[in-house]
Amino acid sequence: MLVLHGGAGTITRKSMTAEAEKQYREALEQALKTGQAILRKGGTSVDAVEASIRVLEDNPLFNAGKGAVFTHDGKNELDAAIMDGKTMKAGSVAGVTIIRNPISAARAVMEKSKHVMMIGRGAELFATKMGLEIVDPSYFWTERRWKALQQELLDEQKPQASLPAADDHHKYGTVGAVALDRDGNLAAGTSTGGITNKMYGRVGDAPIIGAGTYASNESVAVSATGAGEYFIRWTVAYDIAALVKYRGLSVQQAADEVINKKLKAVPGAEGGVIALDRQGNFAMPFNSEGMYRGWIGADGVPHVEIYKD
Ligand code: ASP
Repeated sequence: MLVLHGGAGTITRKSMTAEAEKQYREALEQALKTGQAILRKGGTSVDAVEASIRVLEDNPLFNAGKGAVFTHDGKNELDAAIMDGKTMKAGSVAGVTIIRNPISAARAVMEKSKHVMMIGRGAELFATKMGLEIVDPSYFWTERRWKALQQELLDEQKPQASLPAADDHHKYGTVGAVALDRDGNLAAGTSTGGITNKMYGRVGDAPIIGAGTYASNESVAVSATGAGEYFIRWTVAYDIAALVKYRGLSVQQAADEVINKKLKAVPGAEGGVIALDRQGNFAMPFNSEGMYRGWIGADGVPHVEIYKD
């Protein structure tokens, strides 16, 4: 079983053209099939999570890898994490600017260093030494995200009253995956450009283990998307795992409790998660207007959903 998200936010039927919707659906289906092909052949959940996220990182539709949003000063600073529920090993990178696939750098940190998290220049040096693909920062430039930044900068100058709804231009688009392999092992991964107009050096929840990404065979695998500052402070991914482990809630109950009760009560704490347990039960709750999401099971048929209903 593999479950994916492609970001939560202001995603409504009204705001989406038929052509755009088709593109998102195709991209998510492709990522689901890529991951499932690995699981079907007996590959690990870590392999499947990395491979499906790479597909979405390479697709400019999503706010991860190519297509990442811009910082206030016009750069792309990427964050990613991966966690192996069997070994409880984890790896993450933050604020990287030249690594084509940050999720693979996170995996390298997990498997080839003695650390969990590496940032900026050090993470980039390490990824280079590990033979990962390095690109010029301009690789991440896309017109759509550049325009979104320009719009945000304009909005910032307007009086408060005329500001659009908080995330009108964010549109989010972070990507994440959780998988369960044939041996019953869980894994989770998340990759993002963060939020449009973020300050230099700002790091979100995605690369923080326990906030945006978490996996343990003793509970669940979780990947989050949304307003990262809240997901960090509410330790969202681990909170869901803890509710499953210590309170015996189902994955659906636990994920709903955190997303649709706890966070819903907090102004600004918008977003969602995908969560999966070792029996293959999963949940995909979100408290925003929409969330790109999908799942694929042993029958190999991809399912994609975007809107609330
Ligand atoms: N959670 C991400 C961050 O705050 C953004 C997102 O998921 O849209 O960096």
